[in-house]
Amino acid sequence: MNWLTNFVRPKLRALVARKETPENLWLKCPKCEQMLFMRDWEANQEVCTHCGHHMRIRPLKRLPHLFDEGKYELHPLPKVPADPLKFRDTERYDARLKKAQAKAEGSTDALVVASGLMGNRMTVIAALDFGFMGGSMGTAVGEGLVMAAETAVARKAPLIVFSASGGARMQEGILSLMQLTRTTIAVRKVKEAGLPYIVVLTDPTTGGVSASFAMLGDIHLAEPDAIIGFAGPRVIQDTIRQELPEGFQRSEYLLEHGMVDTVVHRHKLRETLIRMVTLLMDPLVVA
Ligand SMILES: [Zn+2]
Repeated sequence: MNWLTNFVRPKLRALVARKETPENLWLKCPKCEQMLFMRDWEANQEVCTHCGHHMRIRPLKRLPHLFDEGKYELHPLPKVPADPLKFRDTERYDARLKKAQAKAEGSTDALVVASGLMGNRMTVIAALDFGFMGGSMGTAVGEGLVMAAETAVARKAPLIVFSASGGARMQEGILSLMQLTRTTIAVRKVKEAGLPYIVVLTDPTTGGVSASFAMLGDIHLAEPDAIIGFAGPRVIQDTIRQELPEGFQRSEYLLEHGMVDTVVHRHKLRETLIRMVTLLMDPLVVA
């Protein structure tokens, strides 16, 4: 303890701290490690302005770029019993949920359902939110997807799903696994009504979501370089005891192997979706 440590050092620290750039002004691209000015990056739909890397964008940031004039109606998720198993790991599940909800700008779970005009046609979009507990699918997400499918059928509208998920919500045990069948039946209703069901696979789409509604689209689009698969590469490598090929489980690899129909840049998604829905709903009749 002396005058230097007690007095000079805190003063110096305060001086240095004040000159630091605010944290939320810049961010580093995880791919090319270039610094990005936050405002430019947001205006670019969260795609790196240097290397084109597509970062994980939350639904409420994505939706305005899809609907006509950025206008849409949000459909609140149906109410479901919170924490039916009274689950607890390092933290109580209901506490985890509340924390995620506080950060989610109004959404109550890992799915956002919206409807509005897209290319002047009523369209329903259901987008999973990886930022909300890893986009995991529990009862609320399942119910939300059923509601989205029913809304599409009632309004004779196409259903577009943006997938981004780590899989089933472990904290809901068997109830989360039941959503695999429920969502499968829900999207079948859309197909039976003769309406297009299109899936846009985004980074990452894995586990129970890729094992159900995310792989059942009439057409599968994917954002560039997204991880798409069921189990992670390390699990597969350890099971089959073989080196996995380069780019395994990435959008471009899946396109080459016939699992994805096309890989689309985020900036081109709106026009591509409008074109596909038009081709499916208003086919030209050749006399
Ligand atoms: Zn980059």
